[in-house]
Amino acid sequence: MSTDRAASPPLPGRDDVLDLTRELLRIDTVNPPGNEREAAEAALAYARARGLSGDLQPLGDGRANLHLVLRGKGERAPLMYCGHLDTVPLGTARWTRPPHAAEVDEDGVLWGRGAVDMKGGLAAMLVGIATLARTGTQPLGDVHFLATAGEEVDCAGARAAGQRGVLEGVGGLVIAEPTDLDLVVAHKGALFLEFVTVGRAAHGSMPEQGVNAITHMTTLLERLTALDLGSVTDPLLGAPTTSVGTIQGGSVVNIVPDRCTAQVDLRSVPGLDHAVVLKRIEAVLDELKLTLPGFDARMTVTGDYAAVGTDSADPLVRTARDVLGGVLGRPPKIAGVSYFSDGSVLQPGTGLPTVLCGPGDPNLAHQTDERVHVEALERAAEFFTLLPLSG
Ligand SMILES: [Zn+2]
Repeated sequence: MSTDRAASPPLPGRDDVLDLTRELLRIDTVNPPGNEREAAEAALAYARARGLSGDLQPLGDGRANLHLVLRGKGERAPLMYCGHLDTVPLGTARWTRPPHAAEVDEDGVLWGRGAVDMKGGLAAMLVGIATLARTGTQPLGDVHFLATAGEEVDCAGARAAGQRGVLEGVGGLVIAEPTDLDLVVAHKGALFLEFVTVGRAAHGSMPEQGVNAITHMTTLLERLTALDLGSVTDPLLGAPTTSVGTIQGGSVVNIVPDRCTAQVDLRSVPGLDHAVVLKRIEAVLDELKLTLPGFDARMTVTGDYAAVGTDSADPLVRTARDVLGGVLGRPPKIAGVSYFSDGSVLQPGTGLPTVLCGPGDPNLAHQTDERVHVEALERAAEFFTLLPLSG
């Protein structure tokens, strides 16, 4: 006999997000190989039981994305909730608690590979829209939920979803990567580059008769790490960075090496166009070919993930900040993070307002003994329940 039920917003059930996170953690989705389909099916079963509709998008070899939709009142452009189903491998160190047992300790901390990155965040988003569906609460606009395969290796799931036009008409993207419940409005992009220098072998006692591929590589790498990437710096992320990740060359001490390979990890910030960066690097290669006798090098792009940035004054950021502030009982921190996400694949070229917000300490992502506070999962689920109701 209540007359004001509609006035109070729905909230997730007591153990909803903990139970769903544990269910997902017990399914091994270490990538490679991924095997995300089993987790996608579990999430779909959970969603359908609560009145949500959607389907799997099979990607072959036990892999799949999941796409769900909760219909809204049409008063706002659709919102997209997005997260990935796969995790990184376990690493070689011994875990304090088994990585796929989803144990909760006496301090209310849930342990497991993916607890932070990002099955906790994924479960919180799904619980959010499932709570709305279960209680018959219509959000202001449609809410899509996209759970992707493959983010930890090559964002293959997000690419496939993008090609299927999953973002058509969508007005805002929210990704539940771990941010410690800060509101992240910018993240770095990455260009993974492989360089090969080719020289000419000679006896080590007569180096003048050869062309030293390692020496040429070190010259090239010095030029690359000193490369002027323009004056693009981001207020939250700082300047772009370059790091040499691997180098291999030569066979024995007394032969001038005729081949050297190096991999470079270049991290970009919003506003730095990767095509422009690649042109600058090609110009360096051309110049060295002209000025360094025998210099011969080629470059291969092995990974290309754009930086993501959204104006802090964007309505999505303002709404998310207000709702999150209400949940946390304090204004949330507006931040940037160094890692990239599926947003690198989904946002570029669309101008789509994009924010990241999820439970868990990002420093624990990809680490041995990955774990998250259950309370943070609950706060996140509350946030993802209320966000679609606010404008
Ligand atoms: Zn992640």
